[in-house]
Parts: sequence; structure tokens; C-alpha cells
Amino acid sequence: MFTTSCNSGLLLFCTNQSLKNLVAIVLLIFCNCSIQAQQLPPMGGGEFQRNLSEPCLSDEQRYIIQDQITQNRERTEVKTAIESQKNVTTIPQFIWPVKVSAESPFFHSLIVTNYVDHDPIFTGSQFGDSNLDYNCGNRTYDTTGGYNHSGIDISTWPFPWYMYENDFVEVIAAADGVIVNKQDGNADNSCGCTNFNWNAVFVEHADGSIAWYGHLKNNGLTAKPIGATVTAGEFIGYMASSGCSTDPHLHFEVYDDSNQLIDPYAGACNNFNSQSWWQSQPDYLTPRINAIKTHSSPPEVGCPSPNEIPHFSDCFQSGERVFIGFYFKDQLAGSEQNMRLLMPPNQTLYANWDFTSPNYFPGSWWYWFWDLPSNGPFGVWTVEADYQGVTYAHQFHYEEQGYSGILPIAGIQTTNRTVETDGFIRSYQTVASPAVVNYDAGEHVELQAPFEVQSGAILHAFIDGCGN
Ligand SMILES: [Zn+2]
Repeated sequence: MFTTSCNSGLLLFCTNQSLKNLVAIVLLIFCNCSIQAQQLPPMGGGEFQRNLSEPCLSDEQRYIIQDQITQNRERTEVKTAIESQKNVTTIPQFIWPVKVSAESPFFHSLIVTNYVDHDPIFTGSQFGDSNLDYNCGNRTYDTTGGYNHSGIDISTWPFPWYMYENDFVEVIAAADGVIVNKQDGNADNSCGCTNFNWNAVFVEHADGSIAWYGHLKNNGLTAKPIGATVTAGEFIGYMASSGCSTDPHLHFEVYDDSNQLIDPYAGACNNFNSQSWWQSQPDYLTPRINAIKTHSSPPEVGCPSPNEIPHFSDCFQSGERVFIGFYFKDQLAGSEQNMRLLMPPNQTLYANWDFTSPNYFPGSWWYWFWDLPSNGPFGVWTVEADYQGVTYAHQFHYEEQGYSGILPIAGIQTTNRTVETDGFIRSYQTVASPAVVNYDAGEHVELQAPFEVQSGAILHAFIDGCGN
């Protein structure tokens, strides 16, 4: 899978295509050859599919919401709160309405899957001829029933159900305002349109415009009642998949003070409003790698939660196959990514391969697997990928087989945790404040670089119940 070229006397060896990969690699390390990786088709993966054939809300549900808001605005406490907002005529300046927990194990987690549809024609297509987003692209959808997508869909990718289960994605207020309606108590694990009622929060801003935050988690909304004020950045609810929804995402929909639909993005094909409603308008495309993960078997992507099995693993023993997954946002058609596997002790090149994206994908994933040499090297290995000028890296541990009873632990621990095993514990963990971590091993506890207990954190290690 390698083609190589050298600038030294080792040219003969390096260009000999009959050399085994391992030999080629060893030579490369010592002869400092330049390496050109070959294309290696992925062993699985594809587009993050969102099958949309129904609107996020029916017309009837929209009438009910509008009606509830009108009634709520008549309530004394709501009226008072709205009146005491500093009344302005200027439109709000939105911040991004989603926040990802620092505990998320991914570099990035958000993708925009659908914008507002400005094409009045509807044919029931997604990314088709009857779809037109603010930027004159077609990254939106409509339905045969006459619905043109009227909000922005912000999804979490990869592993949206893992993020949902862990409450790692918060929906936050895009601007200051007063809560003028809440809808709650509805199932939040839809994979389509079987549950019609969603959970949502509606916030009126000082200029009279209203933002809708929909598909939120059941019983996971802000505890603040209708009539309470929220400030920009304040918790609104957790991202989930309530109502007519194919996966956890936020549907963010905005109306101006005349109840006219707004698209917060300014652009040549925004037929509703000329001004951007963003404090700092996000780019239309941000191609990047959201995550690199290693897995014990091919990750299973599905809906709802029980059908999505990430099989995350950062610790492998010889004989175990290492699955490496790359998870993209806005992967561009024809764009190339170079991927590398680096081995201990000095993170030298073990494998190097390229992949060219066959299409444009808002969210996509691809995986490869490797069977590492049974005699090592053992220790910390690195997976690297270059995409659009940025290098992303993920590390995992590769151990010799036969460590029966080993319980390897890696990563950053920020919450309290107890780990028990009859065998022994080998930890590469960073224990960060304010975590209190207890290791309870039958045999022994090994602390290996880059193990660290940071100031403010506590580690207790016990062997057969005896602390040391
Ligand atoms: Zn939507």
C-alpha cells in the first residue's frame, strides 16, 4: 500500500515494490524518505443519513403553538415580564444556540443538517431542485404536503444517541428574552414521525420577535416557568429527538415582531430578511473532522439509542483487531484526507493511507481496521489525520496478550469514579479536579505515563482492600 521515493542511496530498496510493508517502513524511518500514501478504500461507513419525509411540525401544531403563545402573553406575569424587557426595535443578535459539554469525547460535535427552505415550490425533496437555502445552495428540504423547512436543524454527530444519553448537548438561549411558552411531557426518542408532539421552549425577545427551540428532552427543560426571563447563553433544555424527528437535533425557528418567519442567516437567496440575526454569522461550510475514535468492532450507527453501539475502545491486546473511525462535518466532494498510524516508543510511522471523498456530505464517517504486529511494539499508539490543513490525533493503548485481569484505564476523569477488579489495574489516566478516584485491584495497581493526578483531585489505590 506504499509507494516511496528517496533522496539517498537507499533509492533501490525504497522503490522496490516487492518489499514487504514492514521493511519499507523501517527503511523510511532510517533513510528519511518522502512518503506518498496510496488510496485505501474504507472498510465501512458512509453518510450520516437523515430520512426526512415529514415536517418537524404539522400546520395544526403550529396553530396550537401560536394560540398558546397568544394566550400566555395575556397572563399578568408574562405581560409584566414582556413589558419590563427593554423594548427596542433592533433585532436580537443571536449567539449559537447549542453548547457541547467539555466531557464530550469528540473534538467537535455539531453539524447543520438543514437550513430554511426559501424555494416556495415543494416536491418532497431533500437537497433537491425545489430546495433553496439562504446561500443559494439546496441544503434544506420540503414535503409533498406543502411544507418548506422553516427552521435550522442543528444535529450532533457522531453518535447522536450517545450524546443524548449523556446529556452532553445543551440547547441555550440565543438571545435575552422572556419564556412565552413551554411544551413538555412527550417521548424524546423518535426515529421518524410516530410521536407527533415535541418538547419545546419559546422565547420572546425585547423587539417582540420569538425564537422556537424544538425536539428537546422530556422533563429536561429549564425549570423556569412561563413568564420568567432568560439571558443569552442560559440553559433551555437538552438536545433530543421528541416529536416528528429522525434523530437528536435542535429545530431553531424564528419569527419577527409581525409573526413573519425569519431566516437568521443573511445571504443572496434569503427571501425573508436582508439582515443577519447572528452576532457573528457562522460560515456556510466548515469542513473538519469531528472525531477520530478507536473501536473494538465496527461501530453500529442506528436509531434510537439501543441501535447505536459505538464499541469505543482505547485499549487493545495483541490479537485484537483495531477499528479506526473518522467522523466528518461538511466533507467536501473530491477532498482528500491523509491518515497515519504511528507506533511507540517515538510515534514513528507504521501505516499511511489516503481517502478521497466521493461526494459532499453534511455528516459522514469511514472506518478502517488494522491487525497490529503480535510482538508489538506495545504502548501508546497514535492515529492521525490531515484534513483541510488541520491535523487531528487520537491515541490508544496496545498491550501484550496475556495480561489476564488487566483493567486498562485511559482518558481524563473529571467526576468521581470507583474501579474494581480481581486482576490488576493499569492506569494512563489524568485525574482532574474535582474528581475522587478509587482503584480497587486484586493484584496490583500500575500507573503509567501520561498518568497524572492534578491538584484538587484525589486518588485512592487499594489492593485486596488495603490502601497504599
Ligand atoms: Zn427542522
